Amino acid sequence: MDNRALTAAILEASQRSGAEIFSGNGVKAIWREGNRCAGLVLQNEKVEAKWTVIAAGCFSATIDGIAQYAPVRPAKGQMVALRADDLKIDRVLWSEKIYLVSRNDGRIVAGATVEHAGFDKRVTAGGIEKILSAAIELAPSLASARIEETWAGLRPDSPDHLPILGPTDIDGLVMATGHFRSGILLTPITARLIREWITEQRVNVDWDRFSPLRFQSAATDAARHAPA
Ligand SMILES: Cc1cc2nc3c(=O)[nH]c(=O)nc-3n(C[C@H](O)[C@H](O)[C@H](O)COP(=O)(O)OP(=O)(O)OC[C@H]3O[C@@H](n4cnc5c(N)ncnc54)[C@H](O)[C@@H]3O)c2cc1C
Repeated sequence: MDNRALTAAILEASQRSGAEIFSGNGVKAIWREGNRCAGLVLQNEKVEAKWTVIAAGCFSATIDGIAQYAPVRPAKGQMVALRADDLKIDRVLWSEKIYLVSRNDGRIVAGATVEHAGFDKRVTAGGIEKILSAAIELAPSLASARIEETWAGLRPDSPDHLPILGPTDIDGLVMATGHFRSGILLTPITARLIREWITEQRVNVDWDRFSPLRFQSAATDAARHAPA
């Protein structure tokens, strides 16, 4: 799956379905009225909504009112795109250090690092060195491949590395984040579950282990078992 094409397709599909995009106007806080979420507070305005879904990736916890439900932190991943004239890869190749994926345009994508380095998306010499040496170890003929692109992204990592999905104890406030290394693959099931919850207030799978409320019970349990 091409994640860049997927993002463009989702944007287009949502606009065709009537979604309004507030581009460049980031969310500061949830808009609370008593125990209800009435919408969102943006930089210069408020947006009212019956249902509010927080899906801001590793930035979710920086939105006021969200950290207790989605205590995510960024896990940086660096990648390298290579082009090799004399190597064809038909399937995903894995080693303990790396994976290699062939793209339709002929590029071989090698990744990825997992680094807890804050909200820093810069590509580093050490990161790229690790990827390249592991890639050449796995497929030695890559030594003569050309480097076409390097980049880094930030994954949303939760304390137990599991997604954070579903309703909170604030009416109308729903989480869809914490997908860590699998958020692209989990896009369809996440969208389906959140839609089911919003339209029917139930889902047809057991999703309790992904509940946004699990971090509050973990904090309460820790306090209960702490030495006096
Ligand atoms: C190098 C690398 C390789 C990966 N490979 C794979 C893979 O092979 N397969 C896979 O399934 N997953 C992969 N992932 C993981 C995947 O990219 C993530 O799990 C996924 O992007 C998370 O999606 P998301 O929508 O929750 O967050 P994001 O993709 O981070 O999107 C969050 C969005 O919210 C916006 N936002 C943030 N803060 C605010 C705010 N305050 N107000 C308004 N908007 C805001 C951001 O601008 C962004 O558009 C990889 C990640 C990396 C870094």
